[in-house]
Amino acid sequence: MGVSTPISAGQQFIAGARRRGSGNERNDVVNPSTGGVVDTDNLGNARDVDSAVRAARDAFPGWAATSPGERSEAMLRWAEELALRAGELAALESAIGGKPIRLAGGFDIPGVIDNVRFFAGAARNLEGRASAEYSPDHTSVIRREPVGVVGSIAPWNYPLQMAAWKVLPAVAAGNTIVLKPAELTPSTTVLFAETAVAAGIPAGVINVVTGTGRETGEALIGHDDVAMVSFTGSTAVGRRVAEVAAGQVKRVHLELGGKAPFVVFDDADLEAAARGAVAGSLINAGQDCTAATRAYVHRSRFDAFVARVAELMGQVRIGRADDPATDLGSLISVSHRDRVAAMVERARAAGARVVCGGRIPDGVPEGTAFYEPTLVVDCAQDSEIVQSEVFGPVLVALPFDTDDEAFALAGDTPYGLAASAWTTNVYRAQRAQREIAAGCVWINDHIPIVSEMPHGGYRASGFGKDMSAYSFEEYTQVKHVMSDITGRAHKPWHDLVFAGGS
Ligand code: NAD
Repeated sequence: MGVSTPISAGQQFIAGARRRGSGNERNDVVNPSTGGVVDTDNLGNARDVDSAVRAARDAFPGWAATSPGERSEAMLRWAEELALRAGELAALESAIGGKPIRLAGGFDIPGVIDNVRFFAGAARNLEGRASAEYSPDHTSVIRREPVGVVGSIAPWNYPLQMAAWKVLPAVAAGNTIVLKPAELTPSTTVLFAETAVAAGIPAGVINVVTGTGRETGEALIGHDDVAMVSFTGSTAVGRRVAEVAAGQVKRVHLELGGKAPFVVFDDADLEAAARGAVAGSLINAGQDCTAATRAYVHRSRFDAFVARVAELMGQVRIGRADDPATDLGSLISVSHRDRVAAMVERARAAGARVVCGGRIPDGVPEGTAFYEPTLVVDCAQDSEIVQSEVFGPVLVALPFDTDDEAFALAGDTPYGLAASAWTTNVYRAQRAQREIAAGCVWINDHIPIVSEMPHGGYRASGFGKDMSAYSFEEYTQVKHVMSDITGRAHKPWHDLVFAGGS
């Protein structure tokens, strides 16, 4: 399965065509599992943002005027195009992220195609309140209208899925969009937009501009013709995005960081929990906003859990992204790997015990970004490694004694994106659903997602929903139309303002 997209074909997609970036700085996209360059172009800048926003603004009236059925048809054709190119997309997604080809081919790309199919259907099912006479003299109708040009910003961890989660509800609802992928991983996003045009979605509906966050990102979110901003990324940058948007009273949708708890009660199936913890913490090398990061385990099962997780982590095969035998690929970059390693070192220095991993594997080539699966214990609840996003293949385990304590610990970070509870007791499972403040709570599993269900955070993990029909709340505005049905010139309510009058 080769990557047929030629490098240097351009990392911008504006008005239906690939373009080279206008900036002076080169952007080499590197496969962090080999150190090789996969794609290269000049970065885009504010000039490219301006062209892309103009293209989106010009395309908006025509696209907004298409019927939901027409938009749906176009998106179904797009899904077919993507399915035909699934192998190429998976190879490229795997290469730009150092992500195992098994994951890219079995999760990222099929997930995106399913998302396109879902939104093709959902486009025809925009819902609102029933039209009715809420006042005896009027009929009220709700119109759900697109917002306009959407400016979106995506992270590097699941480049194509994160782009799809932004683009699909926006265009299904009749908006047009300019999306800025992370500069580390633009290549599949450009291909995604190109495929949309090949499927008949008009030029200018979906545009991609690749550049740095400070320059291109801020130019996009602050552009006068961008009606709303949707952002997925870290909480720190999300705060900045919200600031810029607030200055212009723009609608904003934020999907931010996470620090998911993984709560194992004393009645849990321990083997299921241990396997779930390994898969849930190591997926995408832990660079997943919903990854299991904090395992709270009942003290009576703690040692057995730690031993089994360490044993399973020891069996994980680390390797090149394109090797089908690889379980754990590399992290996104050497600098990010160094950041992860430094956090583990600081935990160690503060007295934590690294049960397994906590190091760069022996013999990996220079310029690659591998890090071993890592399990850390004996750390304080208020320590950095428990409170802050590591975004690497690192799981922390802490014991608890009572259910109340477990729920309190699970909620004790600023984040609230996802969580899981492991129990065979139906009452505990019910209580976990209610007690844990997070946008998603899994019971006896951790990670699976479906297009029909919403994804989004509580608290510092942001607000608004990706995927599912709930995402239309972000990308549509609700208009109330109230029509008089009496035909009377002198309406009874006028008497409240001027009595009599003839
Ligand atoms: P990041 O916040 O550093 O960057 C995200 C995007 O924002 C990139 O495209 C970047 O170029 C851009 N950006 C940076 N500074 C900007 C600025 N001042 N103005 C506008 N744009 C700017 O995040 P990352 O390192 O790419 O991704 C990892 C983070 O994303 C983690 O915190 C992770 O939890 C989060 N994430 C959240 C979700 C979710 O659904 N909640 C999903 C995936 C990732």
